[in-house]
Amino acid sequence: MKKCQVVLKSGRRRGCSTSSSMITNVRYGECQKNHAANIGGYALDGCREFMASDTEGTTGALTCAACGCHRNFHRREVETEVACEYT
Ligand SMILES: [Zn+2]
Repeated sequence: MKKCQVVLKSGRRRGCSTSSSMITNVRYGECQKNHAANIGGYALDGCREFMASDTEGTTGALTCAACGCHRNFHRREVETEVACEYT
């Protein structure tokens, strides 16, 4: 039995002929909210990664603990992991 693990970035998919399981991980990167938009400028808060300020299921889960911005302002990264087995 041979095992292989393929990690795909940004949702690209490769078919597996045999039994395979797919795990999709979504993580949120840098904050991209423009804090100077109201004065016509451009300034980011420098937050590098979204960190939920509360547990899943609460409103705090959508707010970044580091910069206080909504999760939507953070860059979304989708990572698809395909684990297939050849028998
Ligand atoms: Zn922010």
